[in-house]
Amino acid sequence: MGDFSDLLESHGVTRREFLKYCSALGAALALPLSMTAKIAEAIESDTRPPVIWLEFQDCAGDSESLLRANRPTVGDLVLDHISLDYHETIMAAAGHQAEASQQATVEKYKGKYICIVEGSIPTEAGGVYCTIGGRTAVDILKQVGGNAALIIAVGNCAAYGGLPAAHPNPTGAKGVSEILPGKTIINLPGCPMNVDNLTATVVHYLTFGAAPACDRHLRPLFAYGKRIHDNCERRAHFDAGQYVENWGDYGHRQGWCLYKMGCKGPETFHNCPTLRWNEGLSWPVMAGHGCVGCSEPLFFDAMMPMYRRLPNVPGFGVEASAVKIGTAIVGASAAIFAAHGAVTTARNWKKIGKAKAEAREEISHLNSDSDSEES
Ligand code: SF4
Repeated sequence: MGDFSDLLESHGVTRREFLKYCSALGAALALPLSMTAKIAEAIESDTRPPVIWLEFQDCAGDSESLLRANRPTVGDLVLDHISLDYHETIMAAAGHQAEASQQATVEKYKGKYICIVEGSIPTEAGGVYCTIGGRTAVDILKQVGGNAALIIAVGNCAAYGGLPAAHPNPTGAKGVSEILPGKTIINLPGCPMNVDNLTATVVHYLTFGAAPACDRHLRPLFAYGKRIHDNCERRAHFDAGQYVENWGDYGHRQGWCLYKMGCKGPETFHNCPTLRWNEGLSWPVMAGHGCVGCSEPLFFDAMMPMYRRLPNVPGFGVEASAVKIGTAIVGASAAIFAAHGAVTTARNWKKIGKAKAEAREEISHLNSDSDSEES
């Protein structure tokens, strides 16, 4: 406990501020106020598990998200304290020394450490599209992730394949759960993930020794339990039928709803509107751009064209239709993951491709229906 108190003190954070942070974290996790002391105790504990951060086929956006603060917040200090034993982008060690440090942690804490994965895993051509230290990403993930107590897949690429898996997916990019079926995995999709959701997930694990409750896409409900559309500050304009029709028009300048500009908020589950980015300053819809659906399993393909509105939602009084369409597309995602569950059991990966193809076909029909209506 001593070292954490010192860390807080060295950054001018009082114990009162730390406990206030723990209480806010408990609220984010939908825990009662009485859990604040337990959360503080778990964070301060000296028995916290080490963390290995693996980075594969990605843009390093999640690492950027981790390092985003221009001044450390209490949450950053908590993550610092949790201790990243291996993160090749930010650790001081390099080359063989870095790999040795990774292997030492795997050996010493087998079955006890947390493995955070950023980036998708290429599987085509024997996995040669991503190798580190002469080993493929598949090999590293199977060894390091396979021996972890918990895997947290950060960003859409690690969760579901993301941008590298977009059609035609030349590298055979896959998400972690497709490589390690049956492991305890939490997905924190987004492009990138919000580091506050990562901190809350890790703290939940430290406090209870278990992953938070998740939806069928392995996303924690505290962060992905509600649609963007449910908490969006432009929602009143949606309900009133006030839409931006062109970039820079009167409605855009007034902060009206971006639905007609392609916003995917009605079909996307994430806490962006409440958590926001840059220390709670803003988020894309607040900044004037529609949601692109980056926390959904079918991102990127199913969310394109980016600036085409969701189908069959013609205007005023449209909420019922928006829910219907959102449900249809989310249902398509569900079909994939239902198939995924079956595949996990049966180890029959062909079904995933078939489910994805069917879902894409369904979405393509929905989009062509929309085009007909528009014309
Ligand atoms: S459609 Fe997008 S901009 Fe409009 S209310 Fe929903 S989430 Fe907000």
